[in-house]
Formats: sequence, C-alpha cells, structure tokens
Amino acid sequence: MAERIAVIGAGQMGNGIAHVFATSGHEVTMIDVSADALERGRGTIAKNLDRQVKKGALDQAAADAALARVRVHTGLDGMADADLVVEAATERRDLKFSIFAEADGIAPAHAILATNTSSISITEIAACTKRPEQVIGMHFMNPVPVMQLVEVIRGLATSDATTQTVMTMSKALGKTPVEVNDYPGFVANRILMPMINEAIYCVMEGVGTPEAIDTVMKLGMNHPMGPLTLADFIGLDTCLAIMDVLHEGLGDSKYRACPLLRKYVAAGWLGRKSGRGFYDYRTA
Ligand code: NAD
Repeated sequence: MAERIAVIGAGQMGNGIAHVFATSGHEVTMIDVSADALERGRGTIAKNLDRQVKKGALDQAAADAALARVRVHTGLDGMADADLVVEAATERRDLKFSIFAEADGIAPAHAILATNTSSISITEIAACTKRPEQVIGMHFMNPVPVMQLVEVIRGLATSDATTQTVMTMSKALGKTPVEVNDYPGFVANRILMPMINEAIYCVMEGVGTPEAIDTVMKLGMNHPMGPLTLADFIGLDTCLAIMDVLHEGLGDSKYRACPLLRKYVAAGWLGRKSGRGFYDYRTA
C-alpha cells in the first residue's frame, strides 16, 4: 500500500486530491511551478478542513494533523520518495508528456504514476515513460473532498497489479472507483462534455439565456446543476481542451467545440476561477 503521495499541480483539483490523501493519513507533497499556486492551494485545504470541522465531519486534531501532512514544493524533485504520484497539472498534452517523461526519471522505480487528466490518452502519457505498466488514470471529480467517484482508467499497457493497487487505494480514501478503458474522454467526459458543448451552442444561437438553459436541465432532467453553471465550475479552458481531445481522437464532427466556447476562452473568461464565464462572479 502506497504511503507517500506526490501531487503535481496545486490548482482546484490538485489541492483537493492532496486534501483527501492527507485526511486518510498519507504524507503528501504538493508540487507546482508557481509558489503562489502552492500557497493558495494550501490555503484552500485549510479552509476546506475547517469547513469539515464545523460540519462535525472531522475533529480539530485530525484536521490539524492532515494539514501538517501536506508539504509544498516547487520542483518535480519533490516526488523522489513518493510511492504514488498523482498528476493534476493544467490540461495540455505537451505539458503532461514532458511532466511524465521527467517524473519517470525522478520517482522511485516501484512508484505508480497516475494522472487526473480529464481526457488525454493514458496510453500516450504512459508511452512517455519507461514504466507504462505502472501508469494509470485516476480521475477524481470536482470538488474532490465531496465527490464520490474516481474513474480509474487503464492504458493499453497498465498492469493488473497497478489497477488493483489504485482501486484499493481509492476505496481506502472513502471513494467509489470505477474501472474503464482508455478512449478519448473515457466515460465521464465522453458523455458530459458534448452535453455542455450543446448547451453552449444553445446560448450562441439564442435558443435561450444561460439561466433558461440551466433551469430547463435542472427542473426538466433533474440535474443538480445546469450545464453552463457546471462548465463555469469546471473551467471553460478545461472544457475546450476536452472537446478538442474528443474531436481529434474520435474524428467525428459532432465533437466540434462550439465557437462561442473558444471565444470565451480566448477572452480569458474561464468561469469561476477567472471571475467570469457564462455567469459573472466578480461581485459574488
Ligand atoms: P487549475 O488550472 O486549477 O490548476 C492547474 C495547476 O497546474 C496550476 O496551479 C498550475 O500552476 C499547475 N502547473 C502547470 N504546469 C505545471 C508543471 N509543469 N508542474 C507543476 N504544476 C504545474 O486546473 P484544474 O482544474 O485543477 O485541473 C487540473 C487537471 O485536473 C487537468 O488535467 C484537468 O483536466 C483535470 N480535472 C479537472 C476537473 C475540474 O473540474 N476542473 C475535474 C477532473 C479532472
């Protein structure tokens, strides 16, 4: 059972992943290229632990111990003693490929290298390393401390032993892992993103306002959150990156990213994290 965890990326997913491993008793090193991101990420973990204490889900001593288990580091050398590495850096192929090539030379030989990618091929990421049988997708949902699912994605070369270890570890975190195979978007985003993209086409074509579209999906389909609110929450840059992977990987025009999504990302309207997306969060 892996004990020491390295999480690459301290953004919304990375700090959530560090949070759940630390509350389960693991030593965690959170790595980011940005010292600011590390500080913000640690601050978010502290705030979310506090919320769990107020709700009675965790006692103060356990929250303090969890926070003390999270170290931060600005270089990939921070994973030199890791048993499991979970990469949650920005969703860009070139970036993930170079991180995995480098991580392969730094992490101990026994370490499993997992990625939280939403859509990039696990098989291709694994091929950047000399240990493809120890590379796997460990796709947490946002917000990580709250959401139950971990989509566990086997690349072409992923071994049974690696899959078993990651399934067992996910259960030990209190999550429900589901094993799937490596095709663009896996299961979660193969189904979710085309729906979000279609909602954006509805905005672009003036079929309805974002509020109207979200209300139709919430009340009509019993979705807890409308697709445009969800897109803002996920991050519009991440949504666009996933649509591009689906389009390129599956080669079908039905996965073409909506031009309005592309325009919002080009404008820096990335959703909640930038203060503006389909909704305006600047005064919230
Ligand atoms: P984010 O923008 O909040 O955070 C990304 C972080 O990666 C930033 O702090 C950035 O500084 C850091 N980073 C960039 N290059 C790096 C490098 N070379 N080394 C270390 N850190 C680096 O993004 P996010 O929403 O947390 O997404 C991270 C990953 O999780 C992506 O692969 C995304 O597809 C996936 N994911 C996102 C969601 C979601 O809802 N946002 C859900 C599931 C999976």
